[in-house]
Order: sequence, then C-alpha cells, then structure tokens
Amino acid sequence: MYIFKRVNDIKKHIEALKEKGKTIGFIPTMGALHDGHISLIKETKTDIKVCSIFVNPTQFNDIKDLEKYPRTPSKDIDLLLESKSCDILFMPTVEEIYPLNFKAKDFDFGNIGNIMEGEFRPGHFQGMANVVHRLLEIINPDELIMGQKDFQQVAIVNLMLKQTKSNTKLVMLETKREKDGLAMSSRNIRLNESERTLAPLIYKNLLISKKNALDGLDIRTIESNFIENIEANKEFKVEYVNIVDGTSLNIINNITDTNFLVMCIATWLGNVRLIDNIIIKNQ
Ligand code: AMP
Repeated sequence: MYIFKRVNDIKKHIEALKEKGKTIGFIPTMGALHDGHISLIKETKTDIKVCSIFVNPTQFNDIKDLEKYPRTPSKDIDLLLESKSCDILFMPTVEEIYPLNFKAKDFDFGNIGNIMEGEFRPGHFQGMANVVHRLLEIINPDELIMGQKDFQQVAIVNLMLKQTKSNTKLVMLETKREKDGLAMSSRNIRLNESERTLAPLIYKNLLISKKNALDGLDIRTIESNFIENIEANKEFKVEYVNIVDGTSLNIINNITDTNFLVMCIATWLGNVRLIDNIIIKNQ
C-alpha cells in the first residue's frame, strides 16, 4: 500500500495508473477505521482502490465535536495493511486540502440540504460537499464509494456530482452492522458500557418501524412510536425521525405516495450523537 500526504505526489501517481488504463475507486473517510470502512474498500470493484483519511474541520458545526472526533492514524494504517484491501492511502494535512488560495463553493442543495442533518448540523453539508469536491479534483476517480449509513450524505453528493457535471460514478453500499444490529461507526468507541448495551435498540426499533409501515400503520404514528420506545430509556434523546422519499428526501405522508421510502433518524445516546436509517421499500 502506498501512502501519500501531498496532493502533487498522489496526483502524479494516479495519473500514471490512469495512463496504464487502470480504473480508480475512491473511498473517502475521516479515519478511526472500523470493519464498515474496510468492507466498503473490499467491495469496491475497480482495479485500484484509493482510501483517504481526513478529519475535515469545515464539516463540523460544533468545535467540541471536532476536538472529540477519534483519531487513530497508526491503527488505521495497520488495519488497512492487515486487510490487504487498499492500494493507496491519502492522508493529507489541512493545509494541503485548503491552501491559502482555496475558494469554497457555495452549493445550493435545496430541501435535501435543509432537513434532518442539514437542520441540526448547519453548515455540515456545505463543508462535506466541498471537501468531497476537492478530493475528487485530486483523485479524479471513476467511482466514488459511500455508505448507506450516511444516507442523506449520499443524496447530497449525488446532487453535487450532477451540479458540477462530474464524470465520477457514485456507488452506495449497504450499512455494515455489529452482530447486535448497531451500525458500525467511529463514534461507537465513545459509548460507555451501559450506553453500548442500549445502542442496538436503535436498529431494533428501525426494524419494527419498517414492519409496521409495510403493514400499513400511519407514518406519523410510526415516527412517534419510535421516539417513545427509544426515549423510554432516559439515556436517549432523539433529535429527529423522518420517513422520507429516498430521492427527494421530501417528507412522505402515506406509504403509497412513493416507491422509494426511507426512515432516517438521529439520536443522542449519552453525549454521543448517532445516526441510522432503514430502507422501508425501494421498488
Ligand atoms: P466516515 O469516516 O464516518 O465519514 O465514513 C466514511 C465512509 O464510510 C462514508 O461513506 C460512510 O457512509 C461509510 N461508512 C461509515 N460507517 C459505515 C457502516 N457502518 N457501513 C457502511 N458504510 C459506512
């Protein structure tokens, strides 16, 4: 595995591979890698797999969240080497990604950018879309691979790729979970023992909600039941629960109103913020 820290070095390396006809897949991450990240890399189908580790300061609306974000660079390198999944690792500094002449783009994502994560993390999607755009300029991959775990993020990046007329194809891969159903996340290591035992309730209740939706229970009732069931444990504080159209992310009133229905949630568990989602139907 090659490791690059500088933009010019990785650009040169990738350009040479492209000249040889190799296809490039790119998996951006913020590090503190777990098996969810590793399976994204393993499932990538291109000749060359490039992974980046960059904790992007501009997508954190809360400075404390940025400071607390887990950073485990040498463990990450070991995990990538052990898994033999990654060909190139890009670990740039903030200065490499945002040189003095860097000009952020002002994207307009409309409703998709304003609800859910957009509402509760103002500025998050502008920062995220800008860093993905910048990384794509550097790597210029054939495929960009992202996890369903961050469903709204995938919708935003999809829009950004259209707006910038990018040739990169976006591939969304399913959420990887622990055996008890908890979605793998770099933030999970911040849960204490008792919070960790409660955390699987999130997915358990997403599964119950999905079943109830398919059985015809009213959508608003499903959302309020979810909050009630989760918050029966005082360690949880649900931030939002929305059942939305999987493409427009518009709030849906009846299950029959769309063919692509997704339930997205964010909740605090102690002082850790967790997000998850479930596709109720996509046909
Ligand atoms: P992060 O480092 O958390 O920003 O995530 C980097 C990429 O990995 C994003 O595309 C995430 O959606 C994806 N990812 C994170 N956790 C999971 C998971 N449990 N399953 C699948 N993909 C994931």
